[in-house]
Amino acid sequence: MHQNLDFSHERDISIDDLVRRVEAYYPEANFTMLRKAYHFAEKAHLGQKRSSGEDYIIHPINVAATLIRLRMDLDTIVAGLLHDVVEDCNVSPTEIEREFNQGVSDLVVGLTKISKIKFKSKEESQIENFRKMVVAMAKDLRVIIVKLADRMHNMRTLQYVSDEKQKKIAQETLDIYVPLASRLGINSVKSELEDLCLRFLKPEIYYRLAEKVSMKKSERDTYIREVITTIKEKLFEYSLHTEVKGRPKHFYSIYKKMTARGVDFEQIQDLLAFRIIVSNITECYKALGIIHSSFTPIPGRFKDYIAIPKVNNYQSLHTAVIGPRAERIEIQIRTNEMDEVAEAGVAAHWKYKEGLAGKSAPKLDWVQELLEYNKNSDNTREFLDVIKNDIDLDGVFVFTPKGDVRELKYGATPLDFAYEIHTEVGHHCVGAKINGKIVPLRHILKSGDSIEILTSKTQAPSKDWLNIVKSSKARSKIKQWLLKIERDENRELGRDVLEKAFKVFGTNIKALKKNNEFKELFDKEHISDEEEMCVLVGSGKFTAKQILEYIPSLREAVSKQETTDIEKITEIESYSNKMTKNVRNKTHSDNAIEVDGMSDVMVRMARCCNPIPGDGIVGFITRGRGITVHTTACNRVDAETLIRTIKVSWNKGFSFTHPVTVRVMTQDKPGILSLISKTINNCGINIRSAMAKSMPDRKGSFIFEIEVKDYSELLKTISNIEALEEVISVTRV
Ligand code: MN
Repeated sequence: MHQNLDFSHERDISIDDLVRRVEAYYPEANFTMLRKAYHFAEKAHLGQKRSSGEDYIIHPINVAATLIRLRMDLDTIVAGLLHDVVEDCNVSPTEIEREFNQGVSDLVVGLTKISKIKFKSKEESQIENFRKMVVAMAKDLRVIIVKLADRMHNMRTLQYVSDEKQKKIAQETLDIYVPLASRLGINSVKSELEDLCLRFLKPEIYYRLAEKVSMKKSERDTYIREVITTIKEKLFEYSLHTEVKGRPKHFYSIYKKMTARGVDFEQIQDLLAFRIIVSNITECYKALGIIHSSFTPIPGRFKDYIAIPKVNNYQSLHTAVIGPRAERIEIQIRTNEMDEVAEAGVAAHWKYKEGLAGKSAPKLDWVQELLEYNKNSDNTREFLDVIKNDIDLDGVFVFTPKGDVRELKYGATPLDFAYEIHTEVGHHCVGAKINGKIVPLRHILKSGDSIEILTSKTQAPSKDWLNIVKSSKARSKIKQWLLKIERDENRELGRDVLEKAFKVFGTNIKALKKNNEFKELFDKEHISDEEEMCVLVGSGKFTAKQILEYIPSLREAVSKQETTDIEKITEIESYSNKMTKNVRNKTHSDNAIEVDGMSDVMVRMARCCNPIPGDGIVGFITRGRGITVHTTACNRVDAETLIRTIKVSWNKGFSFTHPVTVRVMTQDKPGILSLISKTINNCGINIRSAMAKSMPDRKGSFIFEIEVKDYSELLKTISNIEALEEVISVTRV
């Protein structure tokens, strides 16, 4: 409440100021690194301007200044200075790690990730997801603290952006960042953000409050001094030496009170708040007793947050009394430590402490950190439960390339994500890039992953996918697809068989339909239309002969059983059987594999280990599903399943390549085409064609058609191209 941490936008801070401020609480800090970070950021942002027209560097400096006020450790302050250089200046995290250290680089990477989040929907659940996700993904809480400092400065300079943007950013701040600050107990940041939000979201209320509160300012200041003196004297009578501070309450808390009680400003009486700081808990209650016996307490306003701290660890006694001039005043009583926690919350953890100097901040899991922090509190259980509810998520929260957040089940794979985006994306998914790295379909996603799905027009779902996906949505989409494909195949096959059979009798489906010849068949067998009839024949549920017997105009001819016709129909039936087998084989077999002593058997490659020619392999007999080929090293090959194995081998004469098109975006440098071509050739891959295009922004775009044997060869080729320094991205087209 009190402006211990009196934040405001500072226009003229030099690096010397920053050094001096850090020195004040952390004299052994690595000032060389601090200065280096400042000059690094200054250089990186050179020429960039803020909306206010000021040089951009004013922003990171203010962010660092806030972090210094929160007494954060040096890595965090340095990260504050560098927080925008990856996003805005194309500095690579590797460079930051090289110039500074990995801790700083990790913080900046975390911040860059958060900055990519876009807030699309106002939906409450979405907002809650963002909040949880931000917490879950920031393995290091300091990322959130820097983010809050960043947002704080942006809010302080919000008047320089358009009205529309002001509203959007202020709403986002109120929805996401205020609750985060509150959750982490950083009240100094929370209160200021709230007031700033009010200013931009409800300017009429804000300025009215500002006007009222600032009215008769000198008179009020006199009054505040008077109350402070009175309180101090009362406490002194009982030999309590205290620090007492007073100030007008935050606008936002007045506004909240007004809306909660449905009253006007005039009716809100306790506009002043005082804080008494004592040295221990006993003195807190002693001071409370003195206050309550010296002034008239207002019933129902006493709250004991010392006995029962708030979930964010906030501790204090709150009360309201009738002050010396018969005006209501609010009083908070707490110890010094409680006051620090109240202002800086979890940030107080990194505060410089004697003996800690020179050591880096403890790198604990944040939950553990909060628990450690709360060790002395009595209601650890309750605290734990709240924390658990907050962050013990069943889900993982991941980013789309555009920065949207999606929640997926724990254990979800890129395939789940692909189906979450769109059914078609799922059906054609061949793999994914996570945080820029290619991973297989089976990869388990983690919160905070940025996922880009790789698709191919020729890809289609297979039954193995049902073992890869976790979500019921993806599962049912795959099942639907498999059923539809089977149905399509059966329908085409059935149509083919029937047309051939009808042709024997000089007719066809179209003509028979026109003459309404199917009516009896459809009625008696409950078939809805010709399509279903074809499916039933294709799937073997009806033979062509059975269908023929239902057609009135053909019944006689069929029953005459003329030898030639019967022969023809038998021939058609056997053709039908053969076709069924062919269709099955076409869908599932892989001629790259020879199965010991068997021919014409369904063979599929296991997706878990994706065997490629050269791997040691073994076949599993799966009932009704033919043979699945695993590598011998695959961890799904265990003793139990070994019983059902069959010897399989690679078909040596078998070789096929698959044309694939990839687009490579590069920096436009001479010789880049030959460099990429060489890289592809070095992978043993043939290039069918190559096309180059210069882009206006000094980027080059190349389209290569290459021939690969299998997917893994493609992945290898893509990652080799990606490893080239000049290459920006490689995508499969
Ligand atoms: Mn920023």
